Amino acid sequence: MKKHTGQNRQITRSWHPATQAVRGGTMRSEIGETSEAIFLTSGYAYDNAEEAAARFRGEQPGMTYSRLQNPTVAMLEERLCLLEGAEACRATTTGMAAMSAALMCQLSAGDHLVAARAMFGSCRVLVDTILPRFGVETTVVDGRDTQAWAKARKPNTKMFFLETPANPTLDIVDMAAVADIAHDAGALVMVDNAFATPVLQRPFEFGADIVAHSATKLMDGQGRVLGGAVLGREKWINDVYLAFTRHTGPILSAFNAWVILKSLETLDLRVRRAVENAGKVAAFLEARVPRLLYPGLASHPQHALAMRQMDGGGTIIALYLDGGRPQAHGLLDALQLIDISNNVGDSRSLMTHPASTTHASVPEAGRLEMGITEGMLRLSVGLEDPRDLIADLDQALRQIGL
Ligand SMILES: *Cc1c(COP(=O)(O)O)cnc(C)c1O
Repeated sequence: MKKHTGQNRQITRSWHPATQAVRGGTMRSEIGETSEAIFLTSGYAYDNAEEAAARFRGEQPGMTYSRLQNPTVAMLEERLCLLEGAEACRATTTGMAAMSAALMCQLSAGDHLVAARAMFGSCRVLVDTILPRFGVETTVVDGRDTQAWAKARKPNTKMFFLETPANPTLDIVDMAAVADIAHDAGALVMVDNAFATPVLQRPFEFGADIVAHSATKLMDGQGRVLGGAVLGREKWINDVYLAFTRHTGPILSAFNAWVILKSLETLDLRVRRAVENAGKVAAFLEARVPRLLYPGLASHPQHALAMRQMDGGGTIIALYLDGGRPQAHGLLDALQLIDISNNVGDSRSLMTHPASTTHASVPEAGRLEMGITEGMLRLSVGLEDPRDLIADLDQALRQIGL
């Protein structure tokens, strides 16, 4: 490998995030390529038998098998460390692989987890159904209510799990206050940072111990590959996380790591433009629909907290229509530019009806508790010209009588 400053943390830590996103973590082969190489290899060869033995003993640096390490994946991991301000990172096949591995490596039968009730649908299934099957006790609280976190603590509480802004209701959790409560109880705080990305929010600065990502969303940002990441202290990643994932194997493929690595080069540009667009679209919609939630607008009940934690209002808008599912589906069907799609964080603007798609697996009572009504729609704002997005929403709203 050719030496490259992208691997020298003393140098890369001093760079600003936009520079880190382009150059952080880069390793060069002896060819000296400027763009990162894709190492599609499952294994590695050794010069002699003793070298193999030394690597397996952990006495010699180097890779042994791509379930454990891969150069392309390692470049992405280092870049994500720099962007989130973490000591260590491991990239995973999907966001859910990241969430489930980070929870399962830390929790054992008899432990207790407290989680915010408003979260990505599959994360709720992990909390409500899968972890309890393995003897983990779970309590779900209104994440906005700091006292509810304190009240939910038990002597066996090992972890707090939250998402902010939360999918799809855009609840904001006061990370610093909740982290203080968790640490007081000796529990770790894990934050799903998929909706904000490190461009808008860096949870470690607010006391998080673990940050988990779906890289499928804004990080790839072009709707191509799935991916995820878990970030934390080096000791926790080595002793707790890797003890689980070395043998369960949720590692990201080198090809997908490369796609995300390339995408990170434009993350800052894309996220900031999408946030700008979302602000314009939200301001238009606010005057046209009965109720709307967007953290960047003063009308969001937690606007001040959102602005303390985030550098911008995000790219997701939640809107509420009075006519229930027929009117919500009617608006979706009338769209001509914005796609009906349950993905988020794409360069294309996408709209979905959470009650019948992403959160259909959450029982109705749970959905209502989270604020997911039949008249609610979630809009992920992309990179199109906001004038075209507003024109599309305007004609679709007219068609449903709004
Ligand atoms: C999409 C998403 C996930 C899951 O990620 P996948 O890559 O789809 O597995 C988790 N959390 C949030 C907030 C998400 O938006």
